[in-house]
Amino acid sequence: MLKGKTAVVTGGSRGIGKAVALAFAENGADIAVIFSGNEAAANEVVAGAESFGIKARAYQCDVSDFSQTKDVCAKIFKEFGKIDILVNNAGITKDGLLLSMKEDDFDAVINVNLKGAFNFTRHLARYILKSPVGRIINISSVSGIAGNVGQGNYSASKAGLIGLTKTSAKEFASRNVTCNAIAPGFIETDMTSVLPEEILQNVKTAVPLKRMGKPEEIAALALFLASDAASYITGEVIKADGGMYA
Ligand code: NAP
Repeated sequence: MLKGKTAVVTGGSRGIGKAVALAFAENGADIAVIFSGNEAAANEVVAGAESFGIKARAYQCDVSDFSQTKDVCAKIFKEFGKIDILVNNAGITKDGLLLSMKEDDFDAVINVNLKGAFNFTRHLARYILKSPVGRIINISSVSGIAGNVGQGNYSASKAGLIGLTKTSAKEFASRNVTCNAIAPGFIETDMTSVLPEEILQNVKTAVPLKRMGKPEEIAALALFLASDAASYITGEVIKADGGMYA
């Protein structure tokens, strides 16, 4: 499905990004995995991806750092020769009620989740625009659509990502590059494993499908959006939340 294409997946070392990187590799794409500190996990994903017979490399990069991102993007292009797909997936949470949220916690979440996606779009778009079938996929969240108590910083970053998605779609459309966002609900990853049991139980009650999603279920949607089958979809935000906000 993605044979001959090169994809960059930020936050590809764990959770949703890992599932996306492996699904893309299984479908023939060469993969650049971006991680922040977890080199062992990133190398594991690279080894898993290579087992599908494609080329894969891991790159350490703090997505919130503009100049570091610029250097890493140039390095990836040099080593792969072309880039067709970008998945802006790296993200963090630093939850807290607005009345007591620390300035640092607001800034950190905006810088990684929103500015990080800007940085990679800004520095990779020049290469992706050369692809006949370029794709940008931003991993937003239902928190960015509906808001969520305790996630003022996170929901603002994810709502911002939707604006970035729609603008990217409009700016890059003339070059046949599409840009869409995925808004997952609660997915079983390290990010949600720290939530109190009570919240996890409430989630299962609130979700019509009565369970959390799996990273592979988000990866399947990303794979579709990256494929030729999604060639007429751009500027969209697609929820994958078990019906929670249907
Ligand atoms: P996760 O398991 O916590 O993994 C986070 C990934 O992001 C890791 O690969 C991590 O790299 C990377 N990362 C974090 N900060 C970074 C930085 N400054 N620079 C580069 N990479 C960085 O998270 P996840 O649950 O898979 O979430 C992935 C995306 O989906 C996030 O954007 C998240 O907001 C979104 N999302 C998740 C859920 C959910 O329920 N899990 C729901 C909606 C949306 P290291 O391994 O090196 O630390």
